[in-house]
Amino acid sequence: MKIAVLYICTGKYDIFWKGFYQTSEKYFLTNHEKHYFVFTDSTSISDDHSRIHKIHQVSLGWPYNTLMRFKFFQSIENELKEFDYIYFFNSNMRFLSNVGEEVFPSEEEDGLLAVLHPGYFNKTEKDFPYERSKRSLACIRKGEGKHYYMGGFNGGIAKDFLNLINKLSQNIETDLSNNIIAVWHDESHLNAYLLNKKNRILSPAYGFGEGWPLPFEPKIIVLDKNKFGGHHFLRETPPQKTGIVRKVKRWLYQKVKGN
Ligand code: UDP
Repeated sequence: MKIAVLYICTGKYDIFWKGFYQTSEKYFLTNHEKHYFVFTDSTSISDDHSRIHKIHQVSLGWPYNTLMRFKFFQSIENELKEFDYIYFFNSNMRFLSNVGEEVFPSEEEDGLLAVLHPGYFNKTEKDFPYERSKRSLACIRKGEGKHYYMGGFNGGIAKDFLNLINKLSQNIETDLSNNIIAVWHDESHLNAYLLNKKNRILSPAYGFGEGWPLPFEPKIIVLDKNKFGGHHFLRETPPQKTGIVRKVKRWLYQKVKGN
C-alpha cells in the first residue's frame, strides 16, 4: 500500500523530526511504501530523499500551528489523493515497537482511525473536555459522545481522511470568522467530526504519554515536552499570558459545564 504520513514541525518543533522519522522507518507499516509530508520552516531538515517531501510552512504562532493543520493538508490534496492511506502524527511521537495493519480501518468503519486520549480513556462523557459552546462548529452537547480522541494520531483511507480534512478546515475557518477557537483547537473539531462515525478505535498504547502510569504496553509514546524546554519554550508563548488565557478558558469551560 502507499502510505502518506503528515507531519508538522514549525518553529522549535523541528527538534523532534529525526527521532520520529527514524522510529517510523523502523516500526511503522514496514512492508508498505511510506512517504512523509513535512510542513516546516526548518532549514535543518533535508528532503534529499525520494520519500521525504518538505513543504514550506511559516510558523503561525500558537495555537495556529496546530489549529490550521487541516488547511496545510488541503494544500497538497492532489498529491494525497494518490495514496491508499493517510496518517497524521504529532511531532513528538515515537514508535517503540511494530505498528502494522491494525491501523487500516475498513469501509464499514467509515475509513477512519482514531486513538483514545490517554488522559480520558477511563472517563465518561461528562468528564470529556469537548467544546461546549454552540458558537463553535466543534460543539458537542451534554449527554452526547462516547469517546475522547487525541489529536496527535489519526488517519484512514485516503478519500475518507481527505473528506475529514476538507470539512474540518472549513469548520475551523467558519469558527475563526465567528471569533471563536474551540477549547482544544483541532482536537475539539476532530472529536465533533467523529461523534457519529463508526471509526476504528485504538487504545492509548498508540499515544502513550511518556512516563504516565497507564495500564497499556506502549507502542507509540508522546515524548514529555518538559525534557525539551517545556510547552512555552517550544511553542514560543509567554508563560504568564498563556497561563491566564488557560485559566480563563478553564473557568469558562467549567461554567458552561455547570460545575
Ligand atoms: N506544532 C508545531 N509548531 C508549534 C506548535 C505546534 O509544529 O510551534 C505542531 C506539532 O506537530 C505539535 C502539534 O502542532 O506536535 C501539536 O502541538 P503541541 O504538541 O504543542 O500540543 P499538545 O499536543 O501538547 O496539546
